[in-house]
Amino acid sequence: MILDGKLVAQKVLDEVRAGVARLRERTGLTPKLAVVLVGDFAPSQIYVGNKMKAAAAVGIVSEDHVHPAGLDRAALLALLARLNADPGVHGILLQLPLPPGLDADEMIAALAPEKDVDGLHPANLGALLAGTPTVVPCTPAGCMAILDHYGAKLDGAEAVVVGRSRLVGKPLAQLLLARHATVTMCHTHTRDLAAHTRRADVLCVAAGRARMVTGDMVKAGAWVLDVGMNRLDTGKLAGDVEFASAAQRAHAITPVPGGVGPMTVAMLLRNTLRAAERRAAGR
Ligand code: NAP
Repeated sequence: MILDGKLVAQKVLDEVRAGVARLRERTGLTPKLAVVLVGDFAPSQIYVGNKMKAAAAVGIVSEDHVHPAGLDRAALLALLARLNADPGVHGILLQLPLPPGLDADEMIAALAPEKDVDGLHPANLGALLAGTPTVVPCTPAGCMAILDHYGAKLDGAEAVVVGRSRLVGKPLAQLLLARHATVTMCHTHTRDLAAHTRRADVLCVAAGRARMVTGDMVKAGAWVLDVGMNRLDTGKLAGDVEFASAAQRAHAITPVPGGVGPMTVAMLLRNTLRAAERRAAGR
């Protein structure tokens, strides 16, 4: 079974569009996302453009704050403080990576947690760890939405997450754990990666290494989520999983592109709607 992320993302976007309309009708409030882009990293410019287009399509207003790579620390902190204090802004997206000289950890920590729609602020990650999630990081939330849409059984399942980044691997492991999977996290120091991946009923790969997980590393009947987005020399996009061989063994698998990728933007907009709903409710 091919897990169609475009389809699930569209379902989420439809729900967000309806939620935005309901909120506006009930309170007069329109969710607003501030997008902060520093520097001229070409992929970031494309991502930001896509996010703003997707926001407009569901009725979320977005405003961009684009600055050259030379923007200094104090100026970025001042911009974030201004957006934090602006009651008309419900979500702030700080596009990463930041140019050299700006510390992403410091800037993420400077966001108001309730406006941190990427869910990367330590308070939001801590809430996830504490079992009281508030804003959940978008890509892991998108992975869970795909698994849920297609009815994966997580309770008691062996789940293996390859990659332990703050953005994907760590929060995804927490989300799977919260659903009572038995979770193993793998990384570059893991001895015998294949021995772990072959045990996985649910295998999530977010390593950023093109096609590193091959079919022989996949358990027969597994659910495979490929988070990887690797640009090959040919210009083509490849996942972290070798699709053809893994699909032979998996019960269900996400393609790249068209799998986890489309979910990230959808979950970002869902987080923005929820931030606006919390504001409207005075929470
Ligand atoms: P990251 O910060 O570079 O983290 C990669 C993780 O994978 C690290 O924890 C690293 O281990 C581990 N790893 C790398 N090579 C490995 C190997 N050979 N064996 C085992 N573990 C290995 O990357 P990220 O931000 O999490 O992103 C991962 C991938 O997902 C990238 O391809 C990225 O483009 C993609 N991505 C896609 C979306 C989307 O919307 N679809 C969103 C975010 C990211 P160590 O900790 O030991 O270094």
